[in-house]
Amino acid sequence: MVKNTLEDEDMTLLSYNLVVAGAGFFGLTIAHQAATRLGLKVLVIERRGHIGGNAHSVIDPATGIEAHVYGSHLFHCNSEEIWRYLNGFTPFTDYRHHVLTTHQGKVYSMPINLGTINSFFGKEFSSEEAQALIASQRGEITVDAAHNLEEKAIALIGRPLYEAFIRGYTAKQWQTDPRELPADIITRLPVRFTHNTRYFDDRFEGLPSEGYYTIFKRMADHPNIHVMLNTDFFEVRPQLHAGVPIVYTGPIDRYFDYRLGALAWRTLDFEREIVPTGDFQGTSVMNYADEEIPYTRIHEFRHLHPERNYQREKTIIFREYSRFAGKEDEPYYPVNTNRDKDLFEAYRKLAQREKNVLFGGRLGTYRYFDMHQAIGAAFKLFENRLAPHFTQKQPLDNGGDF
Ligand SMILES: Cc1cc2nc3c(=O)[nH]c(=O)nc-3n(C[C@H](O)[C@H](O)[C@H](O)COP(=O)(O)OP(=O)(O)OC[C@H]3O[C@@H](n4cnc5c(N)ncnc54)[C@H](O)[C@@H]3O)c2cc1C
Repeated sequence: MVKNTLEDEDMTLLSYNLVVAGAGFFGLTIAHQAATRLGLKVLVIERRGHIGGNAHSVIDPATGIEAHVYGSHLFHCNSEEIWRYLNGFTPFTDYRHHVLTTHQGKVYSMPINLGTINSFFGKEFSSEEAQALIASQRGEITVDAAHNLEEKAIALIGRPLYEAFIRGYTAKQWQTDPRELPADIITRLPVRFTHNTRYFDDRFEGLPSEGYYTIFKRMADHPNIHVMLNTDFFEVRPQLHAGVPIVYTGPIDRYFDYRLGALAWRTLDFEREIVPTGDFQGTSVMNYADEEIPYTRIHEFRHLHPERNYQREKTIIFREYSRFAGKEDEPYYPVNTNRDKDLFEAYRKLAQREKNVLFGGRLGTYRYFDMHQAIGAAFKLFENRLAPHFTQKQPLDNGGDF
């Protein structure tokens, strides 16, 4: 049951066995497991006006096309357990993701592969010839000698490919010259010496046939699950039963009222446009590698579902811009400088001392999670902490592995 506001009847907040703050993939997986496997009554409190967190999608009223409100979400995983779990809510399509990038007006395939290399250098190299070329271009500097992101990228893929495909894109993503960014932001830059243009290598890949919004609706559709939208956890917390277990999936620094300082995030701005054409860019995600183009990517959602019979008169696109997040912005990607790592560690210690509150999800653990990782982490938390608490009366704490 999903409600828009806190109503009088909900004030009986004492009657729940478990409270979940946040209705993203992590929070809803916990709620669904607790309700279906243990029969618990679960209250899910969500700050936004919708469930699904950042994977939320809507049917755009102007075009009838399913738009991913927080940017394209491609599902992929290697876990059969997670794949089956999600397929229990809706079947998945056989969509395979491919990314293209535009550099100086020409379109290339990403991640860099044999086709990208040949097209960029105007050659027909074999795999071995391409490897030899890149090895010679990488020779300019070694990874160990690299002092900043630019030097590390050159050590990994050579200067020409770096300057074409990485420099401008990275500068836009971080609003910082790559020479000023630490080398450890990148560990590797994938280069394939084959014509494999698939973006993901996982065993399972696809998109929900009936839309992400259907998955979330069905996850929450249980008589024991009660979702309150437009409600900040901290506003209703004083009304909750003091001993009720809580799974908190909001930002960890916010939980402790930023008492040690704020963790840094990058945020995204999306500029939405309805274009009067049946096909704007011929693909779902187009990157823009050059710094002169202010956005990093354009999403065109119709291409995520070629099997749907969308109308051809207009299409919806999102231009994506990246910047550092202020306190009021949506946190998207952890910045993870050394200062952030130390700060998170300090918050983690505080969290370990909290009784009856478990921290989870990408915000609660200050970590980038793909969707399958969020679901997998929720399964783990449920099995290792919540289920033993409810079935064997184990004390509820975040434990050393958090
Ligand atoms: C731009 C972008 C693209 C992505 N693309 C992909 C992709 O292609 N494939 C993929 O697998 N993953 C992708 N992801 C990752 C995916 O979005 C996450 O894995 C997923 O959202 C994690 O779920 P979560 O529940 O941990 O967090 P969220 O989805 O962020 O959910 C947390 C929820 O908690 C709520 N909340 C926070 N504070 C409070 C509070 N005080 N009170 C009540 N509610 C609160 C928030 O409103 C939010 O709804 C992408 C992420 C981003 C940012």
